[in-house]
Amino acid sequence: MPLPTSPGRKRHFDRKHCARIEARLSSSAILVFDSFCLRSPLHRLRSAARGTTVLAWVGFMEDDQQWMEVALQEARRAATLGEVPVGAVVVRNGELIAQASNRRETEGNPVAHAEVLAIQAAAVAVEGWRLIDCTLYVTLEPCAMCAGALVNSRVSGLVFGARDPKAGFCGSLGNLVQDHRLNHRVDIREGVLEDVCSQVLKSFFSRLRR
Ligand SMILES: [Zn+2]
Repeated sequence: MPLPTSPGRKRHFDRKHCARIEARLSSSAILVFDSFCLRSPLHRLRSAARGTTVLAWVGFMEDDQQWMEVALQEARRAATLGEVPVGAVVVRNGELIAQASNRRETEGNPVAHAEVLAIQAAAVAVEGWRLIDCTLYVTLEPCAMCAGALVNSRVSGLVFGARDPKAGFCGSLGNLVQDHRLNHRVDIREGVLEDVCSQVLKSFFSRLRR
């Protein structure tokens, strides 16, 4: 059975996930899959999950949480170095190909955000600058610089934990990765382990204030 697609989208979010959904596909699951591809999946999940399609979500959420846990490990590693705790990983076809944490202070480098470093490492791993079929998981909504890097590296998907209302440019202050004027757009899922991702940052800043 062909997989459902959202209007105007050329690429599914993640082929491994799609295959998993396909195996579990039912007529009601199609509705869930479509809503999954839209802007605020977790918000939409609540209404979609009232039916009988929760199983279809399990695979997505398990994998998302698994990779976000790895990104969280990176964030915690950054905190031990006195860096703002943000961690990122890049996954391709279900495999971890890069991971990094914020290194701005350590390197004295204003662009050494976790996402940029993870993207650079992923490009080395795939031996090219196009990160097609790659998903970047990051604990905090990317800033404008990192959102630009996501577009320029042709990353297919972005999954982030907590929103950043002060600097986030993937939905908060703007949405650079889904600007229709650009030649590449990135699918977004947000809110994965949101509370944990947010708490890591809050704990770090509260320790700083003490
Ligand atoms: Zn950034």
